[in-house]
Amino acid sequence: MKKALVCGGGGFIGGHHIKRLKKEGWWMRAVDLKYPEYSESHADEFVIGDLRDPNVVATVLNEPFDRVYQYAADMGGAGYIFTGENDADVMHNSATINLNIAKRSIEVGVGILFYSSSACIYPERNQMDPNSPNCSEDSAYPADPDSEYGWEKIFSERMYTAFHRNKGLDIRIARFHNVFGPESAWTGGREKAPTAICRKVAEAKHGYSMEMWENGRELNLPYVEIWGDGKQTRSFLYVDECIEGVERLIASDVREPVNIGSDEMVTINELVRMVVELSGVPRIAVNHVPGPQGVRGRNSDNRMIKDCLGWAPSRPLQEGIGKTFLWVEDQVTKKAKQ
Ligand code: NAD
Repeated sequence: MKKALVCGGGGFIGGHHIKRLKKEGWWMRAVDLKYPEYSESHADEFVIGDLRDPNVVATVLNEPFDRVYQYAADMGGAGYIFTGENDADVMHNSATINLNIAKRSIEVGVGILFYSSSACIYPERNQMDPNSPNCSEDSAYPADPDSEYGWEKIFSERMYTAFHRNKGLDIRIARFHNVFGPESAWTGGREKAPTAICRKVAEAKHGYSMEMWENGRELNLPYVEIWGDGKQTRSFLYVDECIEGVERLIASDVREPVNIGSDEMVTINELVRMVVELSGVPRIAVNHVPGPQGVRGRNSDNRMIKDCLGWAPSRPLQEGIGKTFLWVEDQVTKKAKQ
């Protein structure tokens, strides 16, 4: 039986990936600081452990796993990684995890190590124009990410690549672009735009955000707050297609970093409108407030993945947002009843 270790298996993408590989008959070990928050893990073995500790890494990575999926990172949405307050933790925690895992993977001889990098590695200078951001894989250098989270990711990409070159570690690296879906953080500060907007709209729909927007005039409408002017652009990838992309990348022989993202670019205002329409709320006021926003524009450039894999994500954003809204709405109503 094929065996895989999922680092960060208590998190969003790791949890979904375990579910998929279990269906395909794999034996899975997960390791994380915490159990999954929203459902039972499907892993055969779930180890609570801190991957910053080399002894923990030696204990969980104790045999030549066919695959290691490295999803563990100190991360969150813009409210966590772009405020500057968590920079030291983000860099130190995630780099330590990656350093430990790369070294140990060589010691035990893993089959393939998959590393989840991010679109946050792309230089800010190419993402100033919301209408035509450049995120082609070859635009990453000279490096100039707009966050320390992005700098750690580009360091770790290079570190795993060096382990491939010098020590024969077989690697695959993806640069994910805003992955979303059910069972991801939706409140508490680490949530990202899709679940944050779904939560705000669901709260407004059910009357849980009771204050009405008052900005010089009383609109007497439920409202959502959006960070910035909402004209910044992004693309969002539903988690199932993300995992499909990872499995296809692993099946290939591509060892350079590849974008895994959607190229359906929308403004944040358009995303809000989509969520409002799907929610069935007749009218909602949008209040633009100052807040961390990241770059002005970002979109996945899918030319390389199409060239290399003959495949790219293609499902419409609306489909994934619909499923995600239903899940977030359920969380919001459950929490309100507690
Ligand atoms: P997540 O936060 O849900 O999962 C990461 C998991 O790592 C968490 O469960 C966390 O507890 C665990 N972890 C953190 N520090 C740890 C430690 N010291 N020891 C053990 N476990 C630890 O995030 P996610 O959305 O599932 O993202 C998975 C990976 O994909 C991350 O590396 C992230 O940087 C990358 N990524 C995600 C996105 C996205 O949009 N979700 C985009 C780009 C890149």
